[in-house]
Amino acid sequence: PATLYIVATPIGNLGDISQRAIDILTQVDVIACEDTRHTGKLLAAFAIKNKTMSLHDHNERQRQDQVASMLQEGKTIALVSDAGTPLISDPGFHIVRHCRSLGLKVSPIPGPCAVISALSVAGLPTDRFTFEGFLPSKSAARQAKLANLLEEPRTMVFYDAPRRAIDTLADIVKVLGGQRHVVISRELTKTFETIHSDTAENLLVWLQEDANQLKGEMVLIIEGNKIDADAIPAKAIDTLKLLLAEMK
Ligand code: SAM
Repeated sequence: PATLYIVATPIGNLGDISQRAIDILTQVDVIACEDTRHTGKLLAAFAIKNKTMSLHDHNERQRQDQVASMLQEGKTIALVSDAGTPLISDPGFHIVRHCRSLGLKVSPIPGPCAVISALSVAGLPTDRFTFEGFLPSKSAARQAKLANLLEEPRTMVFYDAPRRAIDTLADIVKVLGGQRHVVISRELTKTFETIHSDTAENLLVWLQEDANQLKGEMVLIIEGNKIDADAIPAKAIDTLKLLLAEMK
């Protein structure tokens, strides 16, 4: 029956593809891909021959009507991104929202996701966490974003480019303090997989001493603020200061 399948693909190691992903990619009428050449290589690796169409950030809104009418005609479509789970810092949100609003069937084929993989090995609390996507590339914006998260008690997960890692760590030290625990997960499931945790200030030194750590892909996880239950919240202190000033 007409269904839009949201299919997760490997984040490095091709062995992580699921049997269901292979079956669905083989059976659907068309595969909508972020990059048809990139997905072409994945399909070739599994000897899957099927039609592809491009669906990326720049044409997603135009494609949504086309995808919806194909589904209304009874076709099946698989959506994949270049790596991992579609919609997670990848295209797909507009299509899924549109199809769901029309009552069309959307079904997940779960699999690899860098956020969840990194969390599963970080050794930081996972009972509650917040995924913050990519950090801004400019330092001022990045510091502002981190400042907004200063009191966040949940474990925080970010995607970041390793070539920016030193600048990002320096901003973390500056805004959140050198003692915050940070975990860097680089090249997960690939040959040079590295998972390293330390305080922000020690990690900064570690990165500065080893240029190899600035290659590939990485997930950055920052421990949440260990809020002292007895401490007065910063906002309350601000209010008290204002009140005191008024009383003078
Ligand atoms: N949709 C993907 C997912 O489910 O993880 C994420 C796509 S996003 C455009 C790409 C970012 O994911 C990279 O910049 C990096 O932060 C992270 N990432 C993807 N693969 C990774 C890997 N093998 N190791 C570490 N981080 C990875």
